[in-house]
Amino acid sequence: MASRSDPRSYDLDALRARVLPETDGEVDDSIPQLADADPDLCAVALALPDGEVRSSAQGDVAFSLQSAVKPFLFALALLDTDGEALDRVGIEPTGEAFDAIKLESGTGRPPNPMVNAGALLTASLVEGTDPDARAARIARGLASFAGRDLDVDEEIAHNEHLLGDRNHALAHLMRAEGTMAVGADDAVSVYARACATLVDAETLALMGATLACGGVNPRTGERAVPTRVARDVVSVMATCGVYDGSGRWMRAVGIPAKSSVSGAIVLAAPGRLGAAVVSPPLDSQGTSVRGRHASEALSEALGIHSFDVE
Ligand code: GLU
Repeated sequence: MASRSDPRSYDLDALRARVLPETDGEVDDSIPQLADADPDLCAVALALPDGEVRSSAQGDVAFSLQSAVKPFLFALALLDTDGEALDRVGIEPTGEAFDAIKLESGTGRPPNPMVNAGALLTASLVEGTDPDARAARIARGLASFAGRDLDVDEEIAHNEHLLGDRNHALAHLMRAEGTMAVGADDAVSVYARACATLVDAETLALMGATLACGGVNPRTGERAVPTRVARDVVSVMATCGVYDGSGRWMRAVGIPAKSSVSGAIVLAAPGRLGAAVVSPPLDSQGTSVRGRHASEALSEALGIHSFDVE
C-alpha cells in the first residue's frame, strides 16, 4: 500500500494543478447565475479535528452551496424534530437523478434527504411557523456548522424559487400525498434560499469537519448537533450523497460526501477530517469532474478510504 501523506503538509496546490487540466464536464445551466460560473474555478480545502483549515489557491472564492446544503438541512430537521424527521423521509438510495419526480412507493415519503424531494421536506421540518422563520432558523444552523454567519445570494434564491419547476412539482406531489405539511410555494422558497447560501471551500470543509467530528465545530468548539445526529447524517451521505453515482463514489473515494450543481462537494471522513472541493463542470450524474478526481487522489494520498485496511 502507498505510504500516507500527512494532511497537515499534503500539497493541496499540487493536487489542484493536477486536476485543473481536466476539461470534461458541463457547467449547470438551470439558472443564469450558475451558467455564468467560471469553469476554471478549482479549489480544495481540508479541515482537521484540531480546527486547522488548509486550502489550495481559490479556497476563499465564494459559490452557492446548492445541494451541498442537504446534509445540513437533514441534520437541522433531525435536531428540531427530535429525530421524528426519520419517520418522514426515507433513507434508501434511488439510483435516479437528483430531481426525479418520484416518492417512496407505499408511503408517499421522499426517498431520502439527499435528493430534492427529501431536502424540500427536511427544510420544511425545521423549527419556525412561517417561511421567514424557517429560513432564519436554517441560517442560524448553517452558521453553527460553518463557525460564522453566511450570506445568501438573493438573485440565486429568487431565480431558483422562480425557475425550479421540478421542485414545485415535487412539493405539490408531497402535499397531495399528505407528507408535506407546509404550503408548496413556501417549501420551495425556503429550500431555494438554503441552496443560495454562499460559502467558500475553506468554510465548506469546516462544515464537513463538524459532521466528521460528531457535530462539534472543531474551530469554534460549538456543538452544532448531537453526536447521534451527525452519525445519522454521515451514514446517509455515504449511501445517497452522490445521487445515482453513490456506489461508484464509495468504491473509488470511500468517503461520505455530498455533491451539488455548483460543482461543490463536501466530504466528511469521521474522526479524521472534513474536506471540500469545488469546480463547476459536472459529469452526467451532477458531480464535479475535477472534484471527483481530486477527491479520489486525496483519499488515496491521505489513506482515508473508509474500507482501506492497513
Ligand atoms: N438547487 C438545486 C436544485 O434544487 C440543487 C440541485 C443540486 O445541487 O444537485 O435544483
